[in-house]
Amino acid sequence: MLKVIEDVVLVVPNPKRRMTGFSTGSSPIERLIERLREILRSSRRAVVFTGAGISTESGIPDYRSPGGIWSRFRPIDFDEFMRSEKARREYWRRKFDTHETIMQAKPNPGHLAIAELVRLGRVAAVITQNVDGLHQASGIPRDQVIELHGNTTYAHCLSCGKEYDLEPIRKTFLKDERLPQCAACGGFVKTATISFGQAMPQGEMRRATAEARACDLFLAIGSSLKVYPAAGLPALAKQAGAGLVIINREQTDLDHLADLVVNGEIGPTLEATLNW
Ligand SMILES: [Zn+2]
Repeated sequence: MLKVIEDVVLVVPNPKRRMTGFSTGSSPIERLIERLREILRSSRRAVVFTGAGISTESGIPDYRSPGGIWSRFRPIDFDEFMRSEKARREYWRRKFDTHETIMQAKPNPGHLAIAELVRLGRVAAVITQNVDGLHQASGIPRDQVIELHGNTTYAHCLSCGKEYDLEPIRKTFLKDERLPQCAACGGFVKTATISFGQAMPQGEMRRATAEARACDLFLAIGSSLKVYPAAGLPALAKQAGAGLVIINREQTDLDHLADLVVNGEIGPTLEATLNW
């Protein structure tokens, strides 16, 4: 099914058939890929923005989606974590329930294609809502990844910022549920994520905003573009004159702003696009 709305080409995938690759011939998806290739070729400074959709292709569930952990449990917000030892224990219990899945996940072809674009100097920065560290694992230098929601693959002290590996914390916690405490200052230790009720990281928000304003192409990948303030970035880039490409399994709230929308799997789409 192919709908053409002015400048926007939208492929509506058949939900009964998972798209795992592309056949030869001039199918609609191939025309979209060719268009995406042209847009990428003419860009001098692109920025990539990623959401949960890219990591589900690595087997990490979208915790916010229906059936995800946050729809089954009321999230532990930041104030509760700071106030209550019981809440901190519950926080770590939940963390270690999902820990294995995240630590075993590997970057998928979507992550690797983005890493290749960064290596080629075509993408200046990757802004992500994901906390799994898979962009860094794909080879992108840490300083080119802007993590709006932090990172769950390590912990840090909430008072002094000292970073901690999770493995020793996990071993101790699973033995007697002892809560981690900062060795340097005695502060509370938590995964380096931004919890509900916790302020967005100012430095990261500033950098993300600056990148959105400076880019000539904004690629929004695997995000429903619903969560603010991050979802405001594509609109900001657009206002500053950049092109906007959205790659997502489902439609998003900002499709009407995009120059190109591809509804499909991220890995195969980007892999085919980079096959210049
Ligand atoms: Zn500390």
